[in-house]
Amino acid sequence: MYKPPPLRYYTLGVRKVAFKGIPKGGTVGRLSRRRMLRTVGLGGLGLAVTSAIGRNETKGDDTMPASAIKPQPFALPPLPYKSLEPVIDDATLALHHDKHHAAYVAGANKALDELAKARQSGDMALVQHWERSLAFHGSGCILHSLYWASMWPSGRGKPSDGLAGAIAASFESQEKMLAQFAAATKAVEASGWGLLAWDPALQRLVILTVEKHQDLTLWGVAPILACDVWEHAYYLKYQNKRPDYVDAWTKIIDWDGTSKRFEAAAK
Ligand code: FE
Repeated sequence: MYKPPPLRYYTLGVRKVAFKGIPKGGTVGRLSRRRMLRTVGLGGLGLAVTSAIGRNETKGDDTMPASAIKPQPFALPPLPYKSLEPVIDDATLALHHDKHHAAYVAGANKALDELAKARQSGDMALVQHWERSLAFHGSGCILHSLYWASMWPSGRGKPSDGLAGAIAASFESQEKMLAQFAAATKAVEASGWGLLAWDPALQRLVILTVEKHQDLTLWGVAPILACDVWEHAYYLKYQNKRPDYVDAWTKIIDWDGTSKRFEAAAK
């Protein structure tokens, strides 16, 4: 019987910021694992990440030298599998991960570097540009890391009892949840994402669609499943048939990983 390798760190594209890498009761900088998991969201994680970075940079001490600023905190996580054929062709997978995601990593680190320089020099003339760049590239890093973790060759497992219960309470059934997820994701205008997320305030799962991934978020939710519907995710194989890609994609969901993210977020 095929035994998959151990679940890799869910890195979220940020060095040393990993769900599995944060021990229970542990911290990332001064950010507790519990708070990290509760604040993860498109912007929520962005807030968590930038908050952690900001804390590392200052630690309440405005005189901390620039050399103490953690350089290049965003990183490209390795893919946890070699292929997702036939649903996603190997050429698309390689380009998507090695070029597109890598560009987000470079852009997010560049934005952080430029913001650090602005603080050092006191010249804030371009701060709006670099904040926007950080939001765009940082969100791209976070969502792509979740996207890779949302899939497994031929799919894997099934929702845990906890996730199945939450799906039933929020959407009546897994079938209805996936029908809404697929329909919503197919309807994303231009480029974007379909997300399944836990909302800790509502104590329920929600499906969100993302068009400009740096905007229109629901702050504080914890995305646990993501489907990328930017054209670079499917166009080589599916061309303009996004619905075919989304329907096929729902067959390769990593339910084991999604269940683990749900259990962590809903604690
Ligand atoms: Fe993408």
